[in-house]
Amino acid sequence: MKKIAFIGLGNMGSKMVVNLLKANYEVIGYDIDQKLVDKLLPYGLRKASTLSEIGDDIDVLITMLPNGEIVEKVYNSIISNLKPNTLLTDCSTIDVNTAKNLHNMCRNKNLSSLDAPVSGGVGGAENGTLTFIVGGGNKAYNLMLPLFEVMGKKSVLCGPAGSGQAAKACNNMLLATTMIGVGEAFNLGKNLGLDLKKLFDVLSTSTGSCWAVNSYCPIKSVGPKSPADNNFEPGFSANLMLKDLTIALKAIKDTNTAAPFAINTQDNFKQMIDDNKGELDFSAVVNFNK
Ligand code: NAD
Repeated sequence: MKKIAFIGLGNMGSKMVVNLLKANYEVIGYDIDQKLVDKLLPYGLRKASTLSEIGDDIDVLITMLPNGEIVEKVYNSIISNLKPNTLLTDCSTIDVNTAKNLHNMCRNKNLSSLDAPVSGGVGGAENGTLTFIVGGGNKAYNLMLPLFEVMGKKSVLCGPAGSGQAAKACNNMLLATTMIGVGEAFNLGKNLGLDLKKLFDVLSTSTGSCWAVNSYCPIKSVGPKSPADNNFEPGFSANLMLKDLTIALKAIKDTNTAAPFAINTQDNFKQMIDDNKGELDFSAVVNFNK
């Protein structure tokens, strides 16, 4: 598996590509915003000015795009050009049904495929410490593993087609609800007259500890550096979190799962975005709690 095409060179994709190039993989890159492609030429990226310049000599196609509709459009434009058995790995966060459709589309053209959304944010993409949350077959996963190991520190094959997106939806739904709970706990502590640094000391080492407290505390000057210390510059924007919650809420409806916290959580993010704060980091939601 030598030649890679990478489509979507934004905040995440651009950093993942640099790690592949540093590991001496040959990569051709495309983004509708050609300035983003040009920025990566000094690292050794080959430029595709159009999608059709990605030819049938590639072994792997990686996509890192905003949403399922766009990934589907890109797959529709490109898959007829690819040679049989090319492996398509979509790392974007998209809904489970679209992910399954993409797998079917690939199977019908004798192409291999994985859904492999990531966790770890822009920092993880830059440092090569992402977690890949993967759905698809063992053979495709094992072929992709060396590339996951270059771009990340962990990958989990969760199950068949769509399982990666399913697990990612569960993770981000939990993260969003947890963040709101963490905000409520600190608000209560403040109203009870506690020193919030002491409260952090307790929560981060007690049964209330979680990533939203320990690594991403949403309270300014409390805990390790986080977007709260930088006027909630993202990080991971509330707009993207609402997209992920919308995916999770659709899955909740489709599967008839009871999840009232998640529904409430989505309302809080909607309120934040209605107040034109969608560009802020998602952890700022603690200030928009109803
Ligand atoms: P981004 O908006 O920075 O990058 C997306 C890129 O896709 C842009 O450069 C855009 O120009 C390009 N694009 C859009 N339509 C295109 C098309 N038709 N053809 C080619 N390129 C096209 O977004 P991002 O932050 O890099 O996120 C990418 C994906 O990763 C999203 O699905 C997001 O939910 C997911 N994700 C993001 C983070 C994060 O912290 N930013 C973390 C985990 C997962």
